[in-house]
Amino acid sequence: MFTDRGTKATSRSAISRRAALRSGGLALAGTALATGLPSLAEAAESADLTARTSYDSIVVGAGLAGLVAARELRAKGRRVLLLEARNRIGGRTWTDRFNDYEIERGGAWVDPLQPHVWREISRYRLNVVADAGPERVLMPTTTGFAESDPITAYTRQGELFTPFFDGAREYFPRPYAPFTREDLITPLDGFSLRDRLNQLAYAPEDEIRMTSTTGLYGAPTARGSLLQLAQWWALAGWNYTGFSGINTYRMERGTAALAGAILADGRPDLKLNSPVASVTEANGRVTVVTRAGLSYCAPEVVMAVPVNVWKRITFSPGLPQAHRTATQQGYGVPRQKKVWLDLATPTDRFLAEAPEDHPFVIMGRMNDNAPVVAFTVDPTLNLASHAAVEAAVRRIVPSATLRSYTVCDWQADEFSLGGPTYRSPGQLTALHRAIAQPLGRIKFCGDDLALGWTGYMDGAIESGLRVAGSPTLAPLPAAAPATHGIAVPRVDRRVYRSMIGL
Ligand SMILES: Cc1cc2nc3c(=O)[nH]c(=O)nc-3n(C[C@H](O)[C@H](O)[C@H](O)COP(=O)(O)OP(=O)(O)OC[C@H]3O[C@@H](n4cnc5c(N)ncnc54)[C@H](O)[C@@H]3O)c2cc1C
Repeated sequence: MFTDRGTKATSRSAISRRAALRSGGLALAGTALATGLPSLAEAAESADLTARTSYDSIVVGAGLAGLVAARELRAKGRRVLLLEARNRIGGRTWTDRFNDYEIERGGAWVDPLQPHVWREISRYRLNVVADAGPERVLMPTTTGFAESDPITAYTRQGELFTPFFDGAREYFPRPYAPFTREDLITPLDGFSLRDRLNQLAYAPEDEIRMTSTTGLYGAPTARGSLLQLAQWWALAGWNYTGFSGINTYRMERGTAALAGAILADGRPDLKLNSPVASVTEANGRVTVVTRAGLSYCAPEVVMAVPVNVWKRITFSPGLPQAHRTATQQGYGVPRQKKVWLDLATPTDRFLAEAPEDHPFVIMGRMNDNAPVVAFTVDPTLNLASHAAVEAAVRRIVPSATLRSYTVCDWQADEFSLGGPTYRSPGQLTALHRAIAQPLGRIKFCGDDLALGWTGYMDGAIESGLRVAGSPTLAPLPAAAPATHGIAVPRVDRRVYRSMIGL
């Protein structure tokens, strides 16, 4: 049965009676008090209720993946209910304000190298702006920080990172089809970013410049998969210019403008503040029950929530082993927090990278008069303490003065339980295809499950398009053969060496 708010006590006959009254309700609303007929508000509510009692699809999660999935299903003529736990749409994108400045607490940057998000931006005619970028760069050395101009600093970074990804053109020849050379990626999938740094034995003064990047994404370097970063390298054109340029462009009116445009286009029935507690498939239908006890039923459900939160939802039948492993291990970067700082000094546009044992691994002011954006992966940094945050900034810029700051902890947020997606060693070949497979009438999507830009808005959109059966995308590859199991492949350094001739 289809139920809606208050329908724990509302029978079908009551619904039909209200619907019947509605037939003249709007015209009579002005006389409601005198006649005892429903008021305008009641009439609107009953219209709302009637419209919402029958759905072809339920989408859980109104991040970009869920919004796109809902729009695509609506475009096929489906009646779609979109259930969102938070009081806003957008998920891990969140345009907010800090000291009268518009900030992004989650995803921010987009790039023409990301075709799915770029197509959405064009579709809704959203303006894109480029950050002005830094005037000077601070890079770590073995004795402190050294300042240089951006071109010098990033030319050197390119020289250091290029060998890190040697072989990626062979093992990711088609970046959106990451399993094309499964024979090559399987033995490499056990490598962490730390394994690769160790293997290449960079000089200390060079390695120290690299763990800002590897620490930021791997959080920490030893946890992050080499192949995740290598796939981004491949997606960016197998070169450092593409790879490092990904974080340059933003939507002028923020990610909220994109999320809002997709919602307005698709017009699913949206219910905010509706965290889903259970999802049950039986007798050819799926029933979704919210924490408030309201239940909804449809022939299919699309779960557009992060893999990390699956463990907080009761599925019946239970999730398969691969799904359980993925949600227990986690797919979203743990520890990473994005912090916005209002610094009285310095006031110029600068970018600083720090080794991953620093409280902030990267921070910078990308535009004039803008706050400084910083990332930390240090679980010991006390973000509740102004003094601790200022001291952390001063580790890099000793003269800095902090006026105020704001932080978003996606790990602590029960509806994400992690930051952007970044896989651990072994997850690509052992889990990735298996967890994207539907469980009967329960389908899954989200940036976690993208074939391309996992961890980016582009991946979320790609995945939302695919789950809704968009004709522009190839279907999912089949799950990995059972023989792959879910164990992390053993790291055999000789494999990489012999493969790429090191
Ligand atoms: C700090 C940070 C920086 C980032 N920077 C960038 C960037 O610069 N560029 C870029 O492209 N990407 C970036 N990303 C990644 C990007 O934000 C994500 O890839 C993308 O937003 C994920 O979208 P999604 O729809 O897959 O998941 P989400 O956005 O997480 O959406 C899932 C939705 O499900 C809801 N939900 C969860 N549990 C339940 C439940 N039980 N019931 C109902 N609803 C539920 C959530 O509230 C959420 O709205 C960043 C992410 C973070 C956190």
